[in-house]
Amino acid sequence: MRATRPAAAALAAVLAVLAVPAVAGCGIGGPQRRTIADNHRLVIGVKEDQPGLGVKRPDGTYAGFDVDVATYIAGRLGVPPERIEFTTTNSSVREEALAAGRVDMIVATYSITAARKRKVTFAGPYYVAHQDTLVRPGLPGVDDVRDLAGREICAVTGSNSWRRVIEERGVAAVPVRYPTYGACMEALARGDLDAVSTDDLILAGFAGDGPGRIINDPFTDEKYGVGIRKGDVAGCAAVNRAITRMYQDGTAERLLREWFGESGLELTTSVPQFEGCT
Ligand code: GLU
Repeated sequence: MRATRPAAAALAAVLAVLAVPAVAGCGIGGPQRRTIADNHRLVIGVKEDQPGLGVKRPDGTYAGFDVDVATYIAGRLGVPPERIEFTTTNSSVREEALAAGRVDMIVATYSITAARKRKVTFAGPYYVAHQDTLVRPGLPGVDDVRDLAGREICAVTGSNSWRRVIEERGVAAVPVRYPTYGACMEALARGDLDAVSTDDLILAGFAGDGPGRIINDPFTDEKYGVGIRKGDVAGCAAVNRAITRMYQDGTAERLLREWFGESGLELTTSVPQFEGCT
């Protein structure tokens, strides 16, 4: 049967009403946008080859400080472990994975930076790390970051660490591209790189496994944020409440000690100053 004009108009009106909540979710308090605070399930991006932070085990499960932090936050958002799907987000794919909706949240040694803030809303930080440098065994004369001039350093695609040395510090090191920090560490162990300069937590995670010397010259604040889709301010606020709680109830301290207690790093166990949800 062909729809008459009035019937078609009525159908259009019904469809318009149905479409509104899906797009704008108009509630009594005004328009609301989709937020991860309402998710029944969460897909969370983590690292897969950074010991102590995010490692993918042979059985496909993930383990590490970031994984535990993410699991805690999800729990506070009402999502239990069986409704979390972890997936690997290397440094090069993080912004794009969030923008494309492939992940709901990223907890992956993800420093909050001005450039990234243009594309991502960051909750947190949930921890503040500091950049330090691991040099290959036997390499003399590298005692602070300036000594990296002329040295081959690891440059992980999408990561900020090598930029901190070359662009921010103006040190004329030679960047050599690698896809992940795991690959950098293998290269360092083979003698193919002079140094890996990155967050002290990342270096601490590898220190037990690999050769090399940490020079102990920390020179940045790496504010580890929880990346969420740009504009999800309600989700960001909910994650910040979860992070505050994680410090208040002793979970943050327990997790830091569990994963990094033996590292020799000075661990900060008070809630970090939040950046604000923009
Ligand atoms: N935290 C630094 C960054 O976000 C280095 C670690 C990483 O790339 O995951 O760039």
